[in-house]
Amino acid sequence: MASALRRPLIAGNWKMNLTLAQSVDLAKLVSGGFGSASGEVAVCVPFTAITVVGEILKGTGVRLGGQDCHWEASGAFTGEISAGQLRDAGCQMVIIGHSERRRLFGETDEHVNKKLGAALKCGLTPIVCVGETLEERETQKTWRVLETQIAGGLKGFAPSELAQAVVAYEPVWAIGTGKTASPAQAQEAHLFIRSQLKKVHGGSFAAGCRILYGGSVTADNVDSLMAQADVDGALVGGASLKKDFLRIMGFRAA
Ligand code: PEP
Repeated sequence: MASALRRPLIAGNWKMNLTLAQSVDLAKLVSGGFGSASGEVAVCVPFTAITVVGEILKGTGVRLGGQDCHWEASGAFTGEISAGQLRDAGCQMVIIGHSERRRLFGETDEHVNKKLGAALKCGLTPIVCVGETLEERETQKTWRVLETQIAGGLKGFAPSELAQAVVAYEPVWAIGTGKTASPAQAQEAHLFIRSQLKKVHGGSFAAGCRILYGGSVTADNVDSLMAQADVDGALVGGASLKKDFLRIMGFRAA
């Protein structure tokens, strides 16, 4: 289980799912179950649902997040949403550099770095995603990929500026595939990421930075993942759309 320095965080990523009515129902379910949560809880919802979900979550303790943001504050960027707009709409968090954004929309570590700057400037808690593909894992490139993504994504910020930042280790081969990293694989990667955070931003930042695991987290595997010393929470896709999310929120780390 995570160090006492790091409050566990379970964050749902609803991706491009749900109507407004379904979003309202799910937000009510999650906020209704918050009393049995084992740590902090957030839902990262589609842009169109931010306002209605925000109304439901108000005063409940469940935090609200977006799934992406642009790095500019405003301007001619058709289709984009700025970090300031997320904040204005009621978000406290934002996912940055999700592997689906990297893989399907060409996001690079440079984009991630600029988006991180925008999120921090607007007072949003960024959840910066990193992770290797199956091919990279099978060709022993996992550590190099994680090192590059951490260094490139987080470069240029002082530890004090990054104080709220959260990192999510999301092996691409485990996202939406039903293949979860074993608790030992997750722990090994999280420990490596923490060592990289220490190298770039110092020991005290690394010791306090929450590292979430993401990739086919379910009600059945959450406890064993959360039992790992460097796993400080979970970023949950598919299972965050179901009642199972309540059990995930109420994980029991041995
Ligand atoms: C994700 O989208 O961040 C994710 C981890 O998805 P899933 O839980 O469905 O694998």
